Formats: sequence, C-alpha cells, structure tokens
Amino acid sequence: MQLQRVLNRVYSEKRPRIEDLEFLLSLKTPDKRDALFDFADRVRETHMGRGILLRGIVEFSNHCRNTCRYCGLNRFQDGLERFRMTRDEVLACVRNIDEAGIKTVVLQSGEDPECDSGWLAELVFDIKEHFSGAVTLSVGEWTAEEYDLWRRAGADRYLLKIETTNPKLYRDLHPGMDHNFRLACLETLASLDYQTGSGSIVGIKGQSVRDLAKDILYFSESEFSMLGIGPFIPHSGTDMGRELPGGMDLALKMLAVARIVTKNTHLPATTALGSQSGSSAWKAALKAGANVIMPNFTPAPYRRGYDIYPGRDRVAESPKSCVAVVESMARSIRRTVDFCRGDSLKMNKRVFQADAGPFYFRKKSQGGDTIV
Ligand code: SAH
Repeated sequence: MQLQRVLNRVYSEKRPRIEDLEFLLSLKTPDKRDALFDFADRVRETHMGRGILLRGIVEFSNHCRNTCRYCGLNRFQDGLERFRMTRDEVLACVRNIDEAGIKTVVLQSGEDPECDSGWLAELVFDIKEHFSGAVTLSVGEWTAEEYDLWRRAGADRYLLKIETTNPKLYRDLHPGMDHNFRLACLETLASLDYQTGSGSIVGIKGQSVRDLAKDILYFSESEFSMLGIGPFIPHSGTDMGRELPGGMDLALKMLAVARIVTKNTHLPATTALGSQSGSSAWKAALKAGANVIMPNFTPAPYRRGYDIYPGRDRVAESPKSCVAVVESMARSIRRTVDFCRGDSLKMNKRVFQADAGPFYFRKKSQGGDTIV
C-alpha cells in the first residue's frame, strides 16, 4: 500500500523527500490519518519510551515590542493591560513547580523592551540556586551577548519558534522583523550550547502544505532538541482575527510527521492544541507523536493578561491538580508521567555541559563581577 511505503521511506531515509512530506500532510480520510498517527506513535514509543515529560510554564511579562500580526501581545494592542512579574513572584511560581515534582521551568514573555538582561540573568541564577531542574528561556530575539549572559547564568534551554521557514510569509506576518535574524538567533543559541527548541505555527493564512513540508525539512536538518508545533488560533483583537483557524487536524498531522522525521526530538502537546479542545486534544497529540505536556503555572491574575490567543485561561487550574489530570490521562492511554528533567536527546552530536552555567557567574550581591 502506498501510504505504508511512504511512511517507511520518510522514517528511514536520511533526508525525507518533500513530495512524501506533502503527501502525508495532505492525507484526508480518517483511516489514513489514523495510520499516520499510529505510525508516529510507534516511532515515539521506540525512540522516547512511554514517559510523558512535564515542563511548567511561567509567563512573566506580556510587554512586547514586536509586531507579530497573529499575536494578542503585539505592540499595537493598546487595550491590553500590561504586566511584569517581580523576581519574588517568579520565584514563588518556581517553588510551586518544584513542589509539584516538575523538573523544568519555562520562563516565557513577550519581547519586553524594558527587560533588563542583567535582571533576567540574576533571576535565572537565583532559580538555579534552589531548583535542581532545568531552566528554559522563551523570551524572543536578543543579541548574542544577552544569550551568552543568560547561558552563563545557568539557563539550560531556549525556545524560539521560527514560526515559518517561508521568508515571504514570515515578512507578511511580522512587519519590520527579519527572518534572517531569527535564523541567526537560532544558530547563536545552538552555538552557545543551549538545548535549542524551535517550531512553527500551523495553518496560518498564506501558508501552503509545501511551506509546512519545508518547515519539516528545516527541522530535520537543524537537529533541534525540541519543537513546538501548534495550530494558528485567530485572536479577535488582532488584524488576523477573522481568518480561518489552523485546525487541529493539520496540526496533528504536522506533529506526527515531525515525530517520524526527527525521531528523538521532544515534542510537546502544545498549549495552542489544548486551548482549542482541552485535554482531549492533548490526548490526541500524545497519541500522534507528542511526549511532553507544558502546564501553565502563571498566577491567575496575570494569566488573562498573557493573551497571545483566546482560550488560554481554560488550561490548567492549580499545579498539583494539573499534574493529577495529566497522570490520569497518562493512565488512560497506558503511558506514565516521567518526573525527570527530560534533557535533550540530541546532545550526543555536540559536547554539552548541562550545568556549566552557574560556575561562570557571580552575583553582584556577593561582591563579585556580574559575569566572569
Ligand atoms: N516572545 C517570545 C514568545 C512568544 S509567545 C518569542 O518570540 O519567542 C509563544 C508562541 O505563541 C509563539 O512562538 C507563537 O508561535 C505562538 N502564538 C502567538 N500567537 C498565536 C496565535 N494567535 N495562534 C497560535 N499560536 C500563537
């Protein structure tokens, strides 16, 4: 059967053929889609096992200088009440994450023009002093010096989605932003030995199936540690508010193909998937290749303000109850929750020192230079 042949070829060939990727991303009938998801599920089982990793997200600022047309935080959103959490508020969230047994904290924000890189470095350092897990930053485009500072402060991972590999579409979605700079940021991050994650928005206006297939090719060549793949969700406050949503179906196919091609990359059931259909979407993603869930630990008063797309405040209540929900979901699909750090499985390609950062870093308060 042609589908099985294509699946085997995409799995086994070093560089997948673009026509094969397009074929898989275009599957229409439920039985064929299920065959794709089952295949991806088996690849996940072989390369990642049955554990579901947890990463706790803290969205610490919704200030943003950027122009992403789909995002409810972009700088044109005048009506949005902006917030910036204090150091102590972030540390309290990290304690909650730690107490829930989760070994990765993801600090995410808009591109806050007032974000002082030294402040963030000290925050990362403070977190790492008490928290034995990994710290992931997801704060957008900055200079190599800033990335280096945060890395040396102890940040282990960085997540920066390419959003789309089509430069023209990228320009259209991000007026004034530079696709080449985003690509360069990803290279800088990898060169600084961050466990680097990327990903794309799926099903956004102007994006073809070929574009998505090219995203997969880029992912397969770049050896990212992690990929966030989620559907476009129209936000009524943005000028893309009336466009069609990207849709679960296409996002799940993209996730499944990413699993088959990248094999041991960490693939979360993204918040964007969960926001649309709640935990049933998470379950579907976990059965189509995903091996990570990222519960939201942003305190309630701020969660509403981190309004990148609608439906987000439905996701997760308290940290512990969220872990219980994921545990029962895992049982229902004969999986387990894995309370490990879940470091990159790609790092055998490079020399990687997981905890090198803090040794290079002395705090001002201890009388030393900020960074040595
Ligand atoms: N400022 C950081 C974090 C951005 S928010 C950065 O630039 O990396 C995290 C992700 O949310 C983005 O990478 C984008 O892919 C996603 N996102 C934002 N608005 C969205 C929307 N309307 N639909 C789907 N995903 C969206």
